[in-house]
Parts: sequence; C-alpha cells; structure tokens
Amino acid sequence: MYIPPNHPRRESLLLRERIVQGYKKGIVALEGLIAHGRGECFDYLLGEKTHDFAIKAIEAAAASIITAKHPVISVNGNTAALVPREIVELAEVSGAKIEVNLFYRTREREEAIANWLKQHGAEEILGVGDDASATIPELFSERRRVSPRGILIADVVLVPLEDGDRTEALRKMGKTVIAIDLNPLSRTARAATITIVDNVVRAMPLLIEKIKFLKNKPREELLGIIRRYDNNRVLQEALKTIMTRLADLSKSKLVLEFK
Ligand code: ATP
Ligand code: MG
Repeated sequence: MYIPPNHPRRESLLLRERIVQGYKKGIVALEGLIAHGRGECFDYLLGEKTHDFAIKAIEAAAASIITAKHPVISVNGNTAALVPREIVELAEVSGAKIEVNLFYRTREREEAIANWLKQHGAEEILGVGDDASATIPELFSERRRVSPRGILIADVVLVPLEDGDRTEALRKMGKTVIAIDLNPLSRTARAATITIVDNVVRAMPLLIEKIKFLKNKPREELLGIIRRYDNNRVLQEALKTIMTRLADLSKSKLVLEFK
C-alpha cells in the first residue's frame, strides 16, 4: 500500500502495514491485528514516545538479561513482524535464546515465524514442532507448550506483547518476566517483574543499546540496578503520565483551524 511521505500519521500507518504484511505471510494471527489496535490506542495516549519510566524499566531489564543464566526471548507473530532484526540482534548481544511461543499455535505459523527470523540472521529458534515438548503448569492455552531447552529452564524471559495468563504462570514458576506492553493496566503489565510501557518498535533498539552499554559493568553494579527497581512505581508513573497529558489537553484548544 502506498503511504504519502507527508502523511501526518505515516509512522503509525507503516507499522500497520508491517502487521498486515506479516498476516499475509502467515506470521501474524488474525487476532494479532486487533491486539495491535489496542496497542495503538495506548500509544496515542502516551504521545507515541518513550518516557522516563520506560527508560528505567529498560535499564533494569538490561541488567536482568545480562546477569541471567538462561535468558530467553519469547516471540509471537506480532513481535516477529514488527522487530525481526532487533530480536536477532538482542539474542546476539546478550546470548539469549529465541523461542517461538504462540497463543494461536499452528505448525505452519511456527515455521513461518522461524523462517522469517532466520531470513533476518537468526541461527537457532526454539519452540518449533516437537521441540515444544514441555508444558508450563496451570496454563490451558497452546502457550503452555514450551521448549525444555528454552523457556522451561529460563530464569529470565523477555515477553514482548504477552498474554496475562502466561505472564502469571511464568511468575508462579519463579521466573523473572520482562514485559513490553503499551497498556499499563493489562494483566501482563501488572504481573511482570519488569514492565516496559512502550511500543516494542521503540523499546527493542533501546534495550539492545543498554545491554551493550552495561555488558561489561561489574556484576554488583548490575544487581544494584535490579534491587533498586520498583515496578509498581513505574506503572504508577505511566498512568500519571497519561492522566497529566489528558488533563493538559483537556484545557487546551483541540479544534484544528483551516484557513
Ligand atoms: P492481558 O492479557 O495482558 O490482560 P489484553 O488481554 O488486554 O492483555 P492482549 O490482546 O492479550 O491484551 O495483548 C495485546 C497487548 O499488547 C495489549 O495490552 C496491547 O497494549 C499490547 N501491544 C500491542 N501492540 C503493541 C506494540 N507495538 N508495542 C507494545 N505493546 C503492544
Ligand atoms: Mg490477553
């Protein structure tokens, strides 16, 4: 689809187009289109930019991934469609494994996602076909199926655009869960250990840069960052930011004028 270069909503339309192309390639589920729309709405409320509370969460996430024994990046259709290069780069700089984990799991979609990530330079993709042979207790969706070499043994799991149930199940298994979710009120955002309230397309490059920056710092310093991090405060700040923005906007002139 052609999007004029001067269209005021160009960036947002280009992201939609990536999701639509992902759907046509068999990577994104039909339901993924709706999930993207829910994200867009919260991004609008946040002013479509990365705020300080997200930067704080990204720093704690980077420290957790670097100090983890078995970090895993859990990938679904939307994430693969939006940030394939970043998923691969994040795995490379951090040594994390990449695992496909789908709510609407089919063999075709698992393989389409794995092939798409391989086209973007990924070497090993867990969670495809028979590799997803272990199960997470207390979960009944297809997302309970995980790789015994990946999420099952992971101590830190990065879950961009996750479902709430699974985040809770992973927490109950004692794992550190890092979520990227634009909605500070979702169950995912509230159940995660660290919640990056930002668009995955903005958060992933920042997370990669932060990992590169912190990688060679002393372990004690990284553990200090994790200890001082307060996810409840970060979620409160995200909500306050939305509230303040709306309160300011509600006092300003909203109608556009045309001469
Ligand atoms: P939960 O299951 O966590 O309570 P939900 O059921 O409200 O959440 P889902 O449909 O499970 O929502 O997941 C979609 C989530 O992904 C939404 O919270 C939405 O804000 C978020 N989301 C969608 N697109 C993006 C994006 N590009 N970046 C970050 N978050 C996104
Ligand atoms: Mg959900």
